[in-house]
Amino acid sequence: MTTFLGAIADDLTGATDLAGLLARSGIPVSLRMGVPEHPPAETAALEIIALKCRNAPVDEAVEDTLAALHWLRQAGAQRFFWKYCSTFDSTPRGNIGPVAEALMRALGTSQTIYCPAFPENGRAIFMGNLFVGEQPLSESSMKDHPLTPMRDSNLMRILRPQVTLAVGLANRLVVAEGPQALRKRLAQLHADGVSHVVIDAVANNDLHTIGLACHDMTLLTGGSAVAMPLPQIWLDQGLLSRDESRGRLRAEEGTAVVLSGSCSAMTTRQVSAYLESGQPGFRLDPLGLAQNGPNEALDWLSKQAPEAVPIVYATAAPGAVRAAQEILGVERASMLVEQALAACAVKARDLGARRYIVAGGETSGAVAQALGVTKLDIGMEIAPGVPWCFARTGGHDVAIALKSGNFGNETFFSHALEILGT
Ligand code: ADP
Repeated sequence: MTTFLGAIADDLTGATDLAGLLARSGIPVSLRMGVPEHPPAETAALEIIALKCRNAPVDEAVEDTLAALHWLRQAGAQRFFWKYCSTFDSTPRGNIGPVAEALMRALGTSQTIYCPAFPENGRAIFMGNLFVGEQPLSESSMKDHPLTPMRDSNLMRILRPQVTLAVGLANRLVVAEGPQALRKRLAQLHADGVSHVVIDAVANNDLHTIGLACHDMTLLTGGSAVAMPLPQIWLDQGLLSRDESRGRLRAEEGTAVVLSGSCSAMTTRQVSAYLESGQPGFRLDPLGLAQNGPNEALDWLSKQAPEAVPIVYATAAPGAVRAAQEILGVERASMLVEQALAACAVKARDLGARRYIVAGGETSGAVAQALGVTKLDIGMEIAPGVPWCFARTGGHDVAIALKSGNFGNETFFSHALEILGT
């Protein structure tokens, strides 16, 4: 099928989150891990390329994104979406702004929008300020993120140092007036030379208004939720059609494993709840990994009973994370944890695991890469923004849930296993 929407995500769980929301439309969604080596073949109407460029040097992120854009254009894509985190994870250097500007240049478009709102997951934007639940972003647990601590809540202020062109706002009062008013505001901002427009959204209805106003823009940027209404709008316009021929998505019989490298507040609660439910757990300590490598964890995995669903986790409180980072450096601490969890994933597969639950964006990228996964077909949603995905690894059909840090509720791990069936 010719691709209509080509999306590029800055990390893997961001891509699966977007994939899950787009798949609600019933239109086939396929997700590629990195830019495919081969030219497009057997593409879906909605194609997503997951990069690992959220924390990469700016030049590298731009280069990777332009390579992804090239592949998506070859696949026939006519609309493009740049997906980043609903908490706008970035630093003063980028990479949200520089990548958006590079895409705009390549596509020859002079305006795009920024809308990381995700009301179902408690992310709202009001007067350009991002809220996590009822807290401003800078007061939420994101202020302590290991790689991209967010210490400002104002999206225009965060974006300005990242871009060369002017930044503006279409606020909630305009969105509340409907699609026509929003289109007028965008045109007015365009006439004023504003290329980067942050748009307020506090509820799903606002996202629908934004979709109706912006569906024909060549490039949109945002969290996953602002893309959610788009497939239906394009269906209604006859630009897309439903394809019932999608193959059955399945995983082989086998054991399951949970791997957690996220230190987000929600993942911390999920790991605690899971351990309290009586499942066996192994805690990875970056300092221990620096000394002895991951062998202890790998041995522990091989001793688990087949009916158990063990969890290996590095999830720790902000104080413990900082202490490890002070001794090892931020990058080395992260790398040690990611490599250990990736090694656990491969070991688990060799031991018969065919269902994986992985917590953490960077962590998911490392795990999927170690498993040699290149394509994920998107199945049922476990929680808003987290679908079960189906892939091949080492000659096996497996199911993988890749959860970005703050997503899901406390019982996410056991709930995910329940809905897949054991
Ligand atoms: P999230 O989706 O919550 O942002 P990520 O996996 O993207 O999760 O990022 C968490 C980062 O923190 C990863 O690079 C991980 O390796 C690192 N990390 C996890 N546990 C620890 C720890 N105990 N000490 C230091 N760094 C850690």
